Amino acid sequence: MLLDGKVLADKILSEIKVNKKYKLVIIYIGDNYASSIYTMRKKKVCEKLGIDCEILRYSFSIKEGEIVEKIKELNLNKKVTGIMVQLPIPKDLDTFKIINTIDPSKDVDGLTAYNQGLLLQGQKPYYYPCTPLGILTLLKYYKIPLQGKKVVIVGRSNIVGKPLAVMLTRENATVTLCHSKTKKLKEITKKADILISAIGKVKYFNKRNLKENSVVIDVGINRNKDGKIVGDVNFERVKDIVKYIAPVPGGVGPLTIASLMKNIVS
Ligand code: NDP
Repeated sequence: MLLDGKVLADKILSEIKVNKKYKLVIIYIGDNYASSIYTMRKKKVCEKLGIDCEILRYSFSIKEGEIVEKIKELNLNKKVTGIMVQLPIPKDLDTFKIINTIDPSKDVDGLTAYNQGLLLQGQKPYYYPCTPLGILTLLKYYKIPLQGKKVVIVGRSNIVGKPLAVMLTRENATVTLCHSKTKKLKEITKKADILISAIGKVKYFNKRNLKENSVVIDVGINRNKDGKIVGDVNFERVKDIVKYIAPVPGGVGPLTIASLMKNIVS
């Protein structure tokens, strides 16, 4: 059965009530094709909901200090209720320094050290990171049990795998967090009740790497040879042996944006 992220995201968005003025500022540095699409998509959804959204674009040559100063100014601006940096940013800039300048109470992406630290401690952050929040929302909506389940997450980034592992542990799942140095990965994924892949590799997981009747959440967004967007999991090959699957596109992606919108108005 499909875990339909698009339908759920539309439902979440339709339930959002915007009853005061919110303003999101997206800092977008450089010129990344995917980032251009994502920032425009966020702006469009904001506008549909009546949320003010400004994209501040900077060239590759911008100095870190200038971005830091701009964020400090936005932190003090009462009209600005949410600030996010579109990732990735050019390599010679310090992502952590820039992100951690954001006031945690305006960190609608939930990525500052402060908010991630609260999450790790088991306390409530100002905001949960959007992709893990979207995944948890999807699992709960479809009433997929988590307690005591073996969850294998592949990919340990700060935006997906790491915070998701913490959030699912809090839901009493038994979480294994895998990465590129994991040995015998496919033996591990074969034992998973729930497999979540966020590695960014075209159709990496196949039928023989999954447990029958398991739940698969595909987070990867990849372009295959024909230019089509595909996930980390070979959807066609596995769809008949799994119990549930969140596809790409139409699974986690729309929920990431819906979670951002929920964060902005919360
Ligand atoms: P990163 O590049 O930051 O992290 C990738 C992770 O995957 C790393 O932990 C890496 O291991 C691991 N990895 C890479 N190759 C393998 C492999 N062959 N076997 C096991 N582990 C591997 O990526 P992101 O977390 O930013 O994104 C991951 C994917 O998810 C991308 O396709 C991205 O486009 C997508 N994405 C989708 C979102 C959505 O809304 N649907 C939101 C965010 C991301 P190591 O740490 O050892 O290098």
